[in-house]
Amino acid sequence: MTYTRFFALLATLALAAACSRPTPEQQIVNDTAAAMGGADRILAVKTLVIEGEGTQYNLGQDVTPSATGQTFTVTDARQAIDVAGGRMRIELTRRPTFTFFQGPAPQRQVQGIDGTVGYNVAPSGAATRVPDNVANDRRVQILHTPLTAVRAALDPMARLVNPRTEGGESLIDVTTAGGQSFTLAIDATTKLPTRVTSRADNTNLGDVVNESSFSEYQDYGGLQLPTRLTTKVDTITTAEYRASSHTVDGDTGDLAAPADAAGAPAMAGPPPATVAVEELARGIWYLAGGSHHSVLVEFGDHLTLIETPQNDTRALAVIAKAREVVPNKPLTEVINTHHHFDHSGGIRAAISEGLTVITHQGNVALFEEVAKRPHAIVPDALQKSPKPLMVKGISEDTVLGDGTMTVNLYPLSGPHSETMLIAYFPRERLLVEADVYNPGPVQSFAGHFLGELKARNLRIDRMVPLHAKIAPYAQFVKEASAPPPATN
Ligand SMILES: [Zn+2]
Repeated sequence: MTYTRFFALLATLALAAACSRPTPEQQIVNDTAAAMGGADRILAVKTLVIEGEGTQYNLGQDVTPSATGQTFTVTDARQAIDVAGGRMRIELTRRPTFTFFQGPAPQRQVQGIDGTVGYNVAPSGAATRVPDNVANDRRVQILHTPLTAVRAALDPMARLVNPRTEGGESLIDVTTAGGQSFTLAIDATTKLPTRVTSRADNTNLGDVVNESSFSEYQDYGGLQLPTRLTTKVDTITTAEYRASSHTVDGDTGDLAAPADAAGAPAMAGPPPATVAVEELARGIWYLAGGSHHSVLVEFGDHLTLIETPQNDTRALAVIAKAREVVPNKPLTEVINTHHHFDHSGGIRAAISEGLTVITHQGNVALFEEVAKRPHAIVPDALQKSPKPLMVKGISEDTVLGDGTMTVNLYPLSGPHSETMLIAYFPRERLLVEADVYNPGPVQSFAGHFLGELKARNLRIDRMVPLHAKIAPYAQFVKEASAPPPATN
């Protein structure tokens, strides 16, 4: 090649580069990077520490399925991100502003992700590894800030698709080189990021959209970063935070997974459930194990469970154990004590096994919704084996009985849940309840509960909590009569 031809080729290439326009999706990324302080500045960031305070809501645990009034006040919140290294640690202190089952004491929460290892650190300092599905959600959560999302979108290895404009926002779908997918929305006028959304699995709600929205940007060393953050699951607000500081490339502290979590084996999902059978009386068994328990009741021609809690793993184990304990009668129904997600997380599994759901009338609409929601991201038992929901709502005192067994169901309204059922066995003098009495020193609801039981004049020998150990009635009366924990 002659020099002349060489320079002609160079000129052609230069012209081609000058003429090549960014694709519409690349243009959205370029625009927002420029608005935030420039692509070079964003790509140079190594770490980010956001500190602030705010409010958390109580999704799935409020007094009714649709209530949203219960909050925690969050202080000392700190989110430290190793942007390039894929590590993040979130620490915060939260105090309930409502009557909480654990009392009013502040709770310290520490959650982290280091590569593929997700972990929680208890107040004692003990770290536990979380299942891989939770860890994967945290890897995506790292991308739920404007800086990390735009930085990921600037990566030449990222796949950018589906540019669009909707309601004053420009949006693109991003899949990172590491396989995380999210949608970035930017303000069509200011070009600053307004939202990051990503799809996730929720045990109770199935496929959900996690959304982080950003506003009130300020300059931090040449970078525009938001001081307001709101998170949602679908349309339900779960937290609102105000950032008091952003520190770029400062000290993150140690972001490595603690040794006891890093050394623990990976788990794909919840740990296997163990079910310990204890006969409480003729035809009544406690199916205990883990943190949430169930009760099996034998009638003349069928079996009834009280509670299929937590998730498919727990619920299916309890259902299998019930069929094993009394193999010659069909298990036909489950009584759900209340709507709280930890107690209703196995409802879809129960439906998939053909059980009729008996619950407080105030939970029927929730379970109708839960039964039909798609669970495609992590297919659960009902997704794999669809069955119609059969549900009976209870709004007044109801007797289930056939001569061989009698169970009285009572609606119970109180500060823990307004859509609660308790079960009383008059012949065996057993009272089965969830959450309103857990034997121990902290009693947030037991005083109110004792009043309800006294008003009904029930004769009880043993309290059978579905969330704690069985206790004599006298112990319950003693603990319920102690002064409630001081409020702060
Ligand atoms: Zn509860």
